[in-house]
Amino acid sequence: MIRKLYPEGKKKAFNITFDDGVSQDARFVMLMNRYGLKGTFNLNYELMQQEFEWVHESGLVIKRLPEWMVVDLYDGHEIASHSLTHPSLDQMPEDAIMYELGHDKWCLSQLFGCEITGFGVPFDYYDENVADCAKRLGFEYVRTSEESYSYRPPEDPYFWAAGTYHVMPGFYDFVEGFFDTEEELALCQIVGHSYDLDVMDLWAYYEELFRRISLNHDVISMTNGELVRYLKAMSTAEIADDYIRNWSDRTLWFEIDGSVVCVEPGNRFELK
Ligand SMILES: [Zn+2]
Repeated sequence: MIRKLYPEGKKKAFNITFDDGVSQDARFVMLMNRYGLKGTFNLNYELMQQEFEWVHESGLVIKRLPEWMVVDLYDGHEIASHSLTHPSLDQMPEDAIMYELGHDKWCLSQLFGCEITGFGVPFDYYDENVADCAKRLGFEYVRTSEESYSYRPPEDPYFWAAGTYHVMPGFYDFVEGFFDTEEELALCQIVGHSYDLDVMDLWAYYEELFRRISLNHDVISMTNGELVRYLKAMSTAEIADDYIRNWSDRTLWFEIDGSVVCVEPGNRFELK
């Protein structure tokens, strides 16, 4: 029996994708770092300049991180675009959408010194037109503001519904179910904002979750970008009765009759 695996021969992947770049990210990223986990942080370049803040319905004042803090803070994690100014993309002219996505992508790439390949949708509105803009701008994936409550990895990276949003009632069961699921290439993706951890008193829960993930030998921590690139490479794998061929430029991992096997780029692995 052949089962597809994640890098390093892991059965499951864990992913955190948090939006807005708020002050609580400093504590949250340190917590992730302590347990050797990495995530994807979706930032609005223009709001970083303004040190923008707003009052949450709980009374908590939510502050954006200033530009000078972010490069060191997010080192080792993925930075993705969340648009330049966090508008609702509903009924926006196409040139304004292109500017919101494209200029944020460019400014963040200059600031962080790396290519920005992901986009997290601000607010809720997303459609084919926005997806088309993201494709033309060279984004490799778009994480939408929907949740799938599925462990299945995304089939279309431009319509990627998150696994769960940690303010929703189904969050805890979804996370617990991840430890038990036998789904191939199971993915636990959690979307949210780090200020929710203050509002909902979730810090101790996350610390325990990160501890469990870091101790679980079946799970690898991956960013959205790493996931999308690995899954794309895996989609090129040719699995025949007597061989597996890796047509991609990345090492691919499989479990074959209980043994973990890696197939190097361009290589053919004989099954018998
Ligand atoms: Zn947001």
